[in-house]
Amino acid sequence: MSNAGFVDLSKFGAELMLAEKLFALGARTHMVCHLCAISRKTAIRIYKIANQESPKKGLLPWDDHWIIRSSVNNLHASIFLGIIHGHLNCATSNVEYGKQFVNAYGLYCRVVANNSKPSRREQNFENFRVLDINRAWQIIQQFKTLELGFTVCQKCKARHLIVNKKDELFDKCPICETWTDSTGRRRWISST
Ligand SMILES: [Zn+2]
Repeated sequence: MSNAGFVDLSKFGAELMLAEKLFALGARTHMVCHLCAISRKTAIRIYKIANQESPKKGLLPWDDHWIIRSSVNNLHASIFLGIIHGHLNCATSNVEYGKQFVNAYGLYCRVVANNSKPSRREQNFENFRVLDINRAWQIIQQFKTLELGFTVCQKCKARHLIVNKKDELFDKCPICETWTDSTGRRRWISST
């Protein structure tokens, strides 16, 4: 007997649950569709059922220099990627990968919420969550294409992200190659 047209309800259920979790964490529709392998129409319907309104439209602007805009950005991206990067190629399906992504992002949120000395920038974000889930997704894409990599600081031994593009290298440590100005803003130490 052919299984053509047969819908695997347990798999579909797992996709819907994952979509709901991703939306609850602030993911945009495009990312939810990709990770859950569901249509845009289905994703929007799930969001509307949970929130009684339509999801936010569009994507976060792509910023391939986000990790060097601020050492705080770099620290947060390094924490998140440090959690997930060992699992990036282990998942057997999109949904499996999506679950790992949600777990890693959830762990990142718990880690940064416990920051007892948040910087001025971190205080501007709910629960000090500087790395938005959509940005976290972008950072992974950059890591996969080797635009970003990890290095270990020779001074403080922290593992952190670097920009590793062709013709471009930015490898300052977000912990020891920074200083705090009179307004409380953390800045990179200038190399000049
Ligand atoms: Zn360092």
